[in-house]
Amino acid sequence: MRTGNPATATTPFELLLRGGTVVDATGSRRADVRVVDGRVVEVAEGLDAPAGAKELDAGGCVVTPGLVDLHTHLREPGREEAETVESGTRAAALGGFTAVVAMPNTDPPLDSAESVRNVFALAEGAMAQVAVAGAITVDRAGERLAPMAELAALGVRLFTDDGDGVQSAGLMRRALQYATGLGVILGQHCEDRSLAGGGTMHEGAWSSRLGLPGMPSEAEEVMVARDIALSRATGGRVHFLHLSTAGSIDLVRRSPGEGVPVTAEVAPHHFTLTDGCAAGYDPVFKVNPPLRPQGDVDAVKAALVDGTVDAIATDHAPHAPELKDLPFDQAPPGMLGLQTALALAVTELDLPIERIVALLSWQPALIAGLDPTTGGSQGGPITPGAAANLCVIDLAARWTVDPTALASRSRNTPYAGRTLTGQVRHTVRAGEAVVVDAEAQR
Ligand SMILES: [Zn+2]
Repeated sequence: MRTGNPATATTPFELLLRGGTVVDATGSRRADVRVVDGRVVEVAEGLDAPAGAKELDAGGCVVTPGLVDLHTHLREPGREEAETVESGTRAAALGGFTAVVAMPNTDPPLDSAESVRNVFALAEGAMAQVAVAGAITVDRAGERLAPMAELAALGVRLFTDDGDGVQSAGLMRRALQYATGLGVILGQHCEDRSLAGGGTMHEGAWSSRLGLPGMPSEAEEVMVARDIALSRATGGRVHFLHLSTAGSIDLVRRSPGEGVPVTAEVAPHHFTLTDGCAAGYDPVFKVNPPLRPQGDVDAVKAALVDGTVDAIATDHAPHAPELKDLPFDQAPPGMLGLQTALALAVTELDLPIERIVALLSWQPALIAGLDPTTGGSQGGPITPGAAANLCVIDLAARWTVDPTALASRSRNTPYAGRTLTGQVRHTVRAGEAVVVDAEAQR
């Protein structure tokens, strides 16, 4: 596979990241980082750049393992007007991500070896590694299991029908039994259709006031409770996607004491925006699961602080303007996320950078099976020999979100005009500086 490394076979390509503070799972220390041919070779203070090496200024910045997004909708194949693998991975790189997990609700869906191979081929040489989440059921229809063994053999480690939850408890139990044998994880989009069907926002005071059909919190929570029970019964690993309610968080918080192997992610919009944002009927605030009241937002933040939740995942969901700019009840749910996730976490969460990067890098890398302990190259400590997938973050930089300046083909960010603290200065992917001074290099 191509690494995108511009080096020739005879000239080793060398980078020096100078003057930063290295932050990884082992702690933090002042150090320069020297990279040769895609690998970290030296981590120490006062390194010299040999002639020909490219020097990147990391002064005043933290140098971390590249971020890993567990939940990206790349839209290719089928919705290339909204996003492609190329535009989505450029947005990822600008957001500090060196790997993304591509969701399978494309057209056709990623429920066969052929469709998975196609995405891997599209992602060759991309600005971020693309891992693929396979569908749990054929056509994501929730009726019969996809050929999970065949997809696992291609390296698929996470399976989900995201966009929909697996409605049948019996089928989900069978999928978990099967997944256990294959050593893979099932990601669940928790939404009970019999409760949520027809809803376009959170069911509560705002939906009544706006006259919009609502989705109650229970639509999410009954499926979380159900899948905890099924995980306990089968030993199968469930990863809860984009949890959004205080009740869901409480269920997950109790699960370790019950010996249940579940993990969970939350999306930045669920710790930064409330259902009141829909007051002007602007479809940019329509998302699934929906924005919730302040009490739920506070619960999501508390879960990030106390470790109940394992990862921040973007749920980057681009939609072309002609589709998204429909009346609220007709517009598709989803918002952009890759270029704002890190800054929103830095700006809105009362957490040290070590914890923020844990939630955005090595913890999701572990869940996705992309970390070095499972044979991958993402999220590992920055030590000699490690793959050079790195992110350099200026924690003090302030910037204002301009939808027209984003790399995505779509413009549906709910943060237009918002000023955030914390900016990705450089991103290094397999030893190549793909983002330098907050600019994409290709
Ligand atoms: Zn989802």
